[in-house]
Amino acid sequence: TTGRVGFIGLGTMGREMARNLIEAGHALTVYDVDGAAIAGLVAKGAKAAASVAEAATGVDIVITMLPDTPHVEEVVRAPGGLLHTIPSGGLFVDMSTISAGATRTLAADLAAAGISMLDAPVSGGPLGAKNAALSIMVGGETEAVARARPYLEGMGTTISHVGIAGAGQTVKLCNQLVCGVNLQAICEALALGRACGVDLDQMRNVLLGGSASSWMLEKLGPAMIEGDASAGFRIDLMLKDLRLVLEMAQAQSVPLPATSLVTTQYIDARAHGEGSNGNQALFKVYDRMTGQ
Ligand code: NAD
Repeated sequence: TTGRVGFIGLGTMGREMARNLIEAGHALTVYDVDGAAIAGLVAKGAKAAASVAEAATGVDIVITMLPDTPHVEEVVRAPGGLLHTIPSGGLFVDMSTISAGATRTLAADLAAAGISMLDAPVSGGPLGAKNAALSIMVGGETEAVARARPYLEGMGTTISHVGIAGAGQTVKLCNQLVCGVNLQAICEALALGRACGVDLDQMRNVLLGGSASSWMLEKLGPAMIEGDASAGFRIDLMLKDLRLVLEMAQAQSVPLPATSLVTTQYIDARAHGEGSNGNQALFKVYDRMTGQ
């Protein structure tokens, strides 16, 4: 099945996901506050929209891939937003990582207008987005998941319906907790190995072959060892995710000591100007602590 898609948010992830939907045969209408981002997708065959309302008009599904909760709230609730422009019976899928609580409220308000909302955050990073190999965690009504599935399959390889509205975000935030604490463990191993004078590339290879192996070590390890902080999933976006994790934990009275500690290190990294760098820049915190 192919259809008409309104896609809003064409950043690091969204531009690749939108391109994959075009390549899967869907007709895309795209919008972003950044005009250059729109032009990039028009060059790949998308139609430009001048507003959120235009992107939401005459389409079968609207997808958002925005930075944080306030951006999604605005795109939905503002005058001309999705709540006011998607017709009754329409389908909206938010693939950003945002608050699970805010998602439940949005889904309820949209449902009152006859609009089905799914939360469908993703894991797999920019490379997973590029290769249409994302893991997608979906919360919402079964019938809406069935309608969205052909589109989600154009962007990911693993589509998991994990529960009602907000459940996708809950699972994604648990995923982020593991990523953050795991990255911290890798930083500690690299800082210690470096101080003791072992070859870090070789140590990484050994760890990858045993029970300490992880996605983070495999994908981010080389950039950490080389001190290349540049690209990838930004420090400030991970800090946003860790804050959402801690808010959710506080609401449920679940103590998360390891997550709390690594969050302070992300705050430290951002305070030292690493906010726009990739997550491997967490190692810069350890460079400073060890005088490197
Ligand atoms: P990004 O900042 O690169 O892209 C966000 C895009 O949204 C930008 O192009 C921006 O101009 C646009 N935007 C912001 N406000 C807007 C508005 N009101 N209307 C229209 N467009 C607007 O972020 P990203 O890395 O693509 O991440 C997007 C989401 O996916 C985030 O929630 C992030 O946590 C999550 N995520 C990112 C990664 C990753 O590795 N980058 C991986 C998994 C999940």
